[in-house]
Amino acid sequence: MKKTLLILVISLALVISACAPQQATLPPQAPAEVTAAPTQGESTTVPGPQTQVGPTTAPAGTAGEASIGDPYAPELGNTGYDVDHYTLRLSLDPEQTAISGHATIQAVSTIDQLDELSLDFTGFEIDQITSEPGGVSFSRPANKLQIDFPTPLAQGEAFTLEVTYHGTPTMEPSAYVPFVDSLGLQFDAETSTIYVVAEPDGAHYWFPCNDHPQDKATFRFELTVPEGQVGVANGSLVDTRTEVQNAFPDGRPGDLYIWEHNYPMAPYLATAAVGNYVRVESTSPGGVHLRSYVFPENQAYFENLSPTLGEMIDWMGAQFGPYPFEEFGYVQVNGLGASLETQTMVILSVSSGESTMAHELSHMWFGDWVSLDSWGEIWRNEGMATYVTQMWEARNNPDGLEQALQDWEQDIEANPSGYPLGSPPKMEMFGRDSYYKGAVVFHALRTEIGDQAFFQGVQTYLQRYGGGSASDPQFQEVMEEASGKSLDNFFEAWFE
Ligand SMILES: [Zn+2]
Repeated sequence: MKKTLLILVISLALVISACAPQQATLPPQAPAEVTAAPTQGESTTVPGPQTQVGPTTAPAGTAGEASIGDPYAPELGNTGYDVDHYTLRLSLDPEQTAISGHATIQAVSTIDQLDELSLDFTGFEIDQITSEPGGVSFSRPANKLQIDFPTPLAQGEAFTLEVTYHGTPTMEPSAYVPFVDSLGLQFDAETSTIYVVAEPDGAHYWFPCNDHPQDKATFRFELTVPEGQVGVANGSLVDTRTEVQNAFPDGRPGDLYIWEHNYPMAPYLATAAVGNYVRVESTSPGGVHLRSYVFPENQAYFENLSPTLGEMIDWMGAQFGPYPFEEFGYVQVNGLGASLETQTMVILSVSSGESTMAHELSHMWFGDWVSLDSWGEIWRNEGMATYVTQMWEARNNPDGLEQALQDWEQDIEANPSGYPLGSPPKMEMFGRDSYYKGAVVFHALRTEIGDQAFFQGVQTYLQRYGGGSASDPQFQEVMEEASGKSLDNFFEAWFE
């Protein structure tokens, strides 16, 4: 994530179209029968696709812990399962803040005798939940969707949940981000667009999920949008269909965009955008397919920028190992004072330029391919992205790199934040230290162990933990292996 300077001079006000919530109308794909959703705190049993009668004396089950165990963000996630794949079917119209959604969650139990788990999920009315094995009931404790299985699942047993929901998203701020008014779906009336802001804790404001980078999954998106608009998501566009009948609750037809991303992805990096976009395509000299979705007035700018982006992605590949995913690009958004490293399809503020593009691109390696075990370690994501951006900008001027890092270090020493780098106050997660002090630490580490050990260590870190997540101690361990020396004193000095 990177703030733009814009937010320093104006305060953001997200324009929400003043549209009343729609009636509880079913999305076109939903089954005909609807079971009334329980209100908060209530519980109800919903028939699954298969009729299953539980034993009269059910074996004692185990509940998945309603926290994945991140000490910095204990409200997120659940330990009882691991998601393999999400299919998100959404009807999105920028003129209406009410949406229809259908999430299919394919997962496996990670504990024996699992009979209760929770997904992170805030807001929306639930129309129906079906399951395989069938017969689950559900309730809605705060910010969670609790699922109870009539028969406990064995460790490693696969299950599927299908959640049909609708409504106007809950608009509330994150406990971690001072510069965004609300998380989840954003509706920009000025440009008639929808997009998502979800770092660190906003994915569950638009779909039910295990909302933590420790549980990555592959994704498929089926986005129905108003005729003539474009639906954008992560990965590759695999199909489009026009004139889909009854695409919206009022019976209007729409256009369907199907995207697939077959690489593990943290839920906060999933994205969906709808707008009047044009697609700009190119291929880097090294063969990476680039496709961006931009506003028509910026088409020429992006076409002219394509050679630079190609050079940038190949240059990062040469430093850290090949680009880890299938395609890359940006989707422009208006009215957001930040950009976000959504995997393979970066949310790019219209006011951002090449420096922010480099920052978000570098996150594909640092934060996306290897994610954080704990949000308290955000310095590793933002510090590396800041450092790599400076490396890119000074790629032909090593003295310039040295000078920039010295300036940052002096500024940090002159104006200490007063908190440890590895445990910022929640509202300082995206503060100066995570970016600039983080970058200074990476540069100091490179100076300490030398170029060869530094780049070898970083590449090993990406190979070893790619597709998953890693912790600060695991990063230190890899760098110690590469350098052949203990780095205890080094890290203690920077993290006190
Ligand atoms: Zn960032």
